[in-house]
Amino acid sequence: MSRSLDDSFIERVLRDKDLQKLSSVLNVDLEELRHMNDLCLLNYDYAREILIKNDWKNLTGGLSMLEERNRFYTYPEIKAAICAEYGETPKLVNAIISTHQNKQMYFCSECGKRMLPQKRKLGIDVCETCQMKKIDI
Ligand SMILES: [Zn+2]
Repeated sequence: MSRSLDDSFIERVLRDKDLQKLSSVLNVDLEELRHMNDLCLLNYDYAREILIKNDWKNLTGGLSMLEERNRFYTYPEIKAAICAEYGETPKLVNAIISTHQNKQMYFCSECGKRMLPQKRKLGIDVCETCQMKKIDI
């Protein structure tokens, strides 16, 4: 039985300039990123979030309050430049730069499914389904 992949959810891939930035931010080999991008294996939304957070941090010095540190650009100007760079709305850029920096994601070590951080804090590294499979009946 053959099954074709549902590629309808793939709307965009990253540009080469995005990949170059991502390579240095994440310390991942650029050629590997290009190859994965060609195969549409990279999560565009997630990568863009990393890039926007990184740009914002670089351009503002990580400050969330307006100070005189950067005399050439104001915060609204920097925000507008980021919106233009990624073709995103101010609403989305605001949401990305205002979220907590240390947001962590956890995944089941057996099946790879995303888990709630609370479970991980309890020292459990498998999801409920995989935990259940371990019970011998
Ligand atoms: Zn699992």
